[in-house]
Amino acid sequence: MSNFFVMRHFNIPVFIPELACPFRCVYCNQYNITGSCKAPDVAEVEGVILKHLSTIDSAGNKVEVAFFGGSFTGLEMFMQQRYLEVVQPWIEKGIIKGIRISTRPDYITEEILANLHKMGVTAIELGAQSLDNEVLKLSGRGHTSDHVKIAARMIKAMGFELGLQMMTGLPGDSDEKSLQTAREIIKLQADTTRIYPTLVIRDTPLAKLFERGEYKPQSLEEAAGLCARLWVVFHQAGVKMLRMGLHPSEGFFNGATLLAGPFHPAFGELVLTKVWFDRLFPLAQKYQAGKIVIQVNPAELNAAIGHKARNRLFLEKFCKRVKFIGTPVIQPGKYYVDTY
Ligand code: SF4
Repeated sequence: MSNFFVMRHFNIPVFIPELACPFRCVYCNQYNITGSCKAPDVAEVEGVILKHLSTIDSAGNKVEVAFFGGSFTGLEMFMQQRYLEVVQPWIEKGIIKGIRISTRPDYITEEILANLHKMGVTAIELGAQSLDNEVLKLSGRGHTSDHVKIAARMIKAMGFELGLQMMTGLPGDSDEKSLQTAREIIKLQADTTRIYPTLVIRDTPLAKLFERGEYKPQSLEEAAGLCARLWVVFHQAGVKMLRMGLHPSEGFFNGATLLAGPFHPAFGELVLTKVWFDRLFPLAQKYQAGKIVIQVNPAELNAAIGHKARNRLFLEKFCKRVKFIGTPVIQPGKYYVDTY
């Protein structure tokens, strides 16, 4: 009898807020949160790691510490060093396998990368947001597409895992520009990506533009439709999508922070529903008035059926009966149809 062991990946998240950011991205209200928020000290970071490790079986699994939230390499060098040093004892013992950080593309230098490498950082995610210079300028990002390209090449050349995050619906943006950004991200050999549709947050320059009628956010349907196209492009290129849509926060639900824009707590689900809708759409005509069983890989059953059974309900308008079943031998992304 053989024993199967599937290695799992755990991230221990450590939130580093963006303190007194010198930039003014139009969609962001985080740039000046000094006083209301403080960076965790070394003891707090240790506490977070210990707490998570007490609930994780680290033997044989891949455990990493992820410093996220702010621009890690925008911190003073001594602060970066202090955070990285906290993790070292666990790296030396082989309990933690690596460190992940997120940062801005213009906060990358060879010296910074050499230090990150020495301290066990394995993955670097850059907030690229767009690779169109006009969009970057209108969004107040404070960097150009060249910053992204140069930083990405340096990161890859030093053997890190590269993540490039992008946004959709930025000022001056279009579906074609977003698709072009995705193609450039693929060309830069990103290993991972995250896609965030632009939301209009209160007390931001974008909120003012919106209120003056000078900025129109994507509708939820437009954003999900575009992200479904981006998903297909990234998927075909083997770029792993780590997330689509912002993490929901309380202020998004009660209107305290969110003014407008394509927010949905299950945005990723909506995107995958659309991906599967496009795949299954031809069946409506092909099996009109028929009874069909659609077999998909079990991991994709929910996406195929769709958010709130949207895809099944659509097909049921045309077919007499529609059943979905999970079949492990079906390759992800494929499906098989039987009639009965
Ligand atoms: S999104 Fe832009 S303005 Fe906001 S914290 Fe990041 S770099 Fe600064």
